[in-house]
Amino acid sequence: MSDSPPAAASAEPSPAPVLAPAEVNLVRPKEPVIGRVTATKSCMRGKSASFIRHVCIDVSGTPLEGRFRAGQSFGIVPPGTDANGRPHAVRLYSIASPSFGEDGAGKVLSTTPKRVIDERTPQREGDDPDDHSLLLGVCSNYVCDLRVGDEVRVAGPSGRSFLLPEDPSRHDYLFLATGTGIAPFRGMLLELLEGPGEACRSEIHLVMGAPYTTDLLYDDLLRDLERKHPNFHYHVAISREARPDGRRGPYVHQLVDERMHDTFGDLLGRDRTLVYLCGLKGMQVGLFPVLAAHGFADAYLEIKDAGLAAMDPRSWEDDDVRKRVRPTKRCMVEVY
Ligand code: NAP
Repeated sequence: MSDSPPAAASAEPSPAPVLAPAEVNLVRPKEPVIGRVTATKSCMRGKSASFIRHVCIDVSGTPLEGRFRAGQSFGIVPPGTDANGRPHAVRLYSIASPSFGEDGAGKVLSTTPKRVIDERTPQREGDDPDDHSLLLGVCSNYVCDLRVGDEVRVAGPSGRSFLLPEDPSRHDYLFLATGTGIAPFRGMLLELLEGPGEACRSEIHLVMGAPYTTDLLYDDLLRDLERKHPNFHYHVAISREARPDGRRGPYVHQLVDERMHDTFGDLLGRDRTLVYLCGLKGMQVGLFPVLAAHGFADAYLEIKDAGLAAMDPRSWEDDDVRKRVRPTKRCMVEVY
């Protein structure tokens, strides 16, 4: 069943990490405060079918100043009203900056919005079955359209569970991202490696999943960090570009599986390692059987069903993984 040594099959699961404290709901969405855009630029490596930007918002003078953390989200309240004439509800965006902000003083936060460009499809009874007109959504295009100097209504922050530990040096890290799921890891990596104090010397790996090389996000920054910090390792999983042997490129969890023996097995087998996943739900459904198949279930997973625990993880059904396998506190998950 297991095709590599079950390095973490300890009797006692190792202790949960102590996460850094985080404040939430300092600004309620019903009473947003005004931020101001200080920068906006594409954060994609090349020309692509997607449009994803890095947008910086000055929140100085608001309750958010100095009080958001990498890994949290914040709210944006788009202008205008919904189909029922009510003001639009708040939308949550991942903070892409470290806790010390883009400016080093917690005054400017950033996020990674992706343009929504889609066709309408009937969602519920009564919807016009022939309506396939252009769907642009409400908020992400608004955020991508914002220009330097524009005001934007913001709220938050939110989230207390997807955070760096209080003492980062006590852990090693495996960050796994698909697409815009890189946002919190940009902030966390800058915090770990480029903060005001001494850089964290722990072993840190990031696996970034994207359809094509041109879709990689923050690629220049991540390559720079890898050059500057020998303890940081940046891996890319490019899913739609053929490999030399003609196979499709790997998904993130497939790359982890394929590189378990030479790269990830040793890292995952340490009691001090934390795993963070952010992005598409499919990555979680794919990763959990990989962790279990390599003997890491005790450390990172709670299998809520004895029958499932006894099975070869590689034969787990996706639905069983979704319903009956939960991450432990050493495996932090933000997926949609
Ligand atoms: P994307 O570009 O569509 O996909 C990124 C990569 O993931 C592609 O290589 C894609 O491969 C691959 N992928 C697709 N299905 C997969 C599966 N089942 N298992 C593993 N990999 C898979 O990503 P995106 O449009 O940026 O979407 C990112 C997601 O992250 C969104 O759902 C967003 O809401 C979420 N997100 C969450 C947070 C948060 O929780 N805080 C923050 C930011 C983003 P193919 O396309 O080739 O199949």
